[in-house]
Parts: sequence; structure tokens; C-alpha cells
Amino acid sequence: MKTKKIKNTKNKEFIIKGLNFKKDFLTIAGPCSIESLDQILKIAKELKSKINILRGGAFKPRTSPYDFQGLGKEGLIYLKKAADQYNLLSVSEILDPRDTKLFSECVDIIQVGARNMYNYPLLKELGKTNKPVLLKRAFSATIYEFLSSAEYIMKEGNTNIILCERGTRGFEKNLNVNSIAELKKKTNLPIIVDPSHASIDSTVIRDITRAVVAMGVNGIMLEVHTNPSESISDKEQAIDVSLFKKILKDIKKIRNLKFEP
Ligand code: PEP
Ligand code: MN
Repeated sequence: MKTKKIKNTKNKEFIIKGLNFKKDFLTIAGPCSIESLDQILKIAKELKSKINILRGGAFKPRTSPYDFQGLGKEGLIYLKKAADQYNLLSVSEILDPRDTKLFSECVDIIQVGARNMYNYPLLKELGKTNKPVLLKRAFSATIYEFLSSAEYIMKEGNTNIILCERGTRGFEKNLNVNSIAELKKKTNLPIIVDPSHASIDSTVIRDITRAVVAMGVNGIMLEVHTNPSESISDKEQAIDVSLFKKILKDIKKIRNLKFEP
């Protein structure tokens, strides 16, 4: 059998507006979807001193075509307003390669969601920009496939990549901690985890976050809403600001632990 080759997927340090993506802990939070200017401004105000990157979806990859599809360009403009007002970096998911210019103008980091990890034309397009790309692992992707997608972006010249584990599909919802350890061995790209989409359950997010932070990940992405039960999308996993603050305290404590090398 032919052995599959993964290049030694590595990148250099990259710093955007003072945030060092390889050294600083990336705390990414915000709603699943941007619902209105008022909503994103409110949550940004609540989170401003606790996070470094504000998330919010404007182009939503919903399983059902009848569900809310996001505010589109308008949503990205709202996100930019909120991020600029509170001096935060922003991240939002792109679906269509034709929107690359729009995203480059509105956000600091472009997210490729799980469903698009295999969208090679999109990856190539993003590889031609110098915007950091937050690349999420597809539900069924092997590590080889995940890293190969990162290579698609890097091959075009853009090495500013953040890998995001968001759970794969098995018998149950499944965040595979083995694969986080494998990734740490195989690459030096920053690795973050999204316990919100991995669990689809706001009551287990705190536990999952503690575990992966102890593994030494570079950051965490959480869906936080000022009023979770009113969230237009993914309300079952949305956490409120008070739980988010508790999780941040956990993260601080765990990151202060000194493990023997
Ligand atoms: C998201 O982060 O908004 C999202 C849709 O996640 P995923 O691509 O991991 O399903
Ligand atoms: Mn979501």
C-alpha cells in the first residue's frame, strides 16, 4: 500500500493587531449567528475585556434550507462595527469563494467551517490572501485529510492557519482528544478547540473545556449569547455570560499549572 504523505505542516509566528497567534491564548467567543446590530454590540460589550476574538456567523451553513441562513453581508458589517468599537479581532465563516474580498475587508480571521474543510477551490482562494484562516475539522475527516486541507491553503502562500477541533461523528457526539495529541505531534500550527459544536449541549461545555485546556491547546472557541434561550441558531449549546466567566476562571487556573516537560 502506498503510504500517504503529510508534509510537515508548520508555520511561523503571526501577529495581528498585537495578538500573537502562536504564543497568546486565543479566547474566541460570541453568538452562533449575528442576529442584529444591537445583539452583537451587547455581547461584545459584555465580553470585551475577557476575550481577544469576537465570533459571529453571518453566512450560516444550516442543515435545513428552511432554517435562518444568516444576515449575510449586513451581518459582517455589524460584526466589524462591534469588533472595532470594542477593540477586538473578529472571525466569521465564509461559504463561497466569491466572498473572499468581502471577508478580507470585514473580518480579521476567516473561518472555514467543518462542512467546507474539503472545499478545495475555497481553500485555494483563501491561500492567496494573507488573512489568518481558522480551519475546522470536518465531521468525518482523518488527521491526514485535516492537515492536507491546511496544506492546500499554505501551498498558495498563506501560512497563517489555526486548526480547530470541533468533534467528529462516531456512535455518539465525539471530541477526540487523541487527535489533539496527534496534531500537536504532527504540526506546530496553533490548535484550538470548539467545545460548543463538539457537544451541542451547554451543560457539558465546562467539563470539556477544562480537559482540553489541560492538554495545552492554544485557544478555545465558545458560543456565548446574552440570552441563550432566545438564540436564533444552536440555542442548545449557547452559554450565558455568567457561565462563560466561570469557564474563563477554570482556564486561568489550569493554564497556571506547571507540568514537568
Ligand atoms: C460555527 O462555528 O458557526 C459552525 C457552523 O461550526 P462547524 O462548522 O464546526 O459546524
Ligand atoms: Mn453554531
